[in-house]
Amino acid sequence: MTERPTGDPLVRMSGVDKWFGELHVLQDIDLTVDRGEVVVVIGPSGSGKSTLCRTINRLESIENGEITIDGERLPEEGKELARLRADVGMVFQSFNLFAHKTVLENVTLGPIKVRKQSKADAEKRARELLDRVGVGAQADKVPAQLSGGQQQRVAIARALAMDPKVMLFDEPTSALDPEMINEVLEVMVGLAQDGMTMIVVTHEMGFARRAANRVVFMDGGRIVESATPEEFFTNPSSDRAKDFLSKIL
Ligand code: ADP
Ligand code: MG
Repeated sequence: MTERPTGDPLVRMSGVDKWFGELHVLQDIDLTVDRGEVVVVIGPSGSGKSTLCRTINRLESIENGEITIDGERLPEEGKELARLRADVGMVFQSFNLFAHKTVLENVTLGPIKVRKQSKADAEKRARELLDRVGVGAQADKVPAQLSGGQQQRVAIARALAMDPKVMLFDEPTSALDPEMINEVLEVMVGLAQDGMTMIVVTHEMGFARRAANRVVFMDGGRIVESATPEEFFTNPSSDRAKDFLSKIL
């Protein structure tokens, strides 16, 4: 799955700079993700990967540059921001489910509140999504009764229930016990095959090889390299990427 699918930009970051105080955490980031494209972001700890994801749905503000989602510029705040943000699904390392709600309620809450769906419609769709990610039988439990892998799959279903245009995954398997990693990656590979636009921060190189159209390597707040998985893993062009790969492969 390596060719760029559409040439139709869905997420576009241009000239994006962000500082945390003195720390120039994102430096002149240009990144375009096409509709249907799967981009894996890798790089050392502290290189700005999470911050990059968080700027795309404005969990973090930016100081320079602009970000557009499907041609619309992300505003600073307000109703338009809420509307655009709803188009960006996010799955975090820690599953962030609502602990006191059932699995089904976790998935229906956003569609009912934000998308103004009826409870019946939201529940029907939630059950379909929970089946799709393989946790349909857990719908009436609370998150603590589920394994980590099951909880992360619920988090994916919850994000999908909003019908996002793009899904962001920030190290979705790094908090999981090893035996649960594959069940989450399989769901993500399925989404990629179904044509979902995805930005995935992960060090799971098997996932990158199977599902990514492109690998973006970050270091020190910059995008140092952007290549197909094949190019990147066999012949990275920068010394920093070579050094990084030698440590993780
Ligand atoms: P990565 O996800 O690649 O590990 P992050 O985007 O989390 O990197 O962090 C990049 C840098 O920004 C790190 O040096 C981190 O300590 C710093 N950082 C992240 N979040 C904040 C914050 N809210 N305030 C100050 N510094 C932060
Ligand atoms: Mg991170």
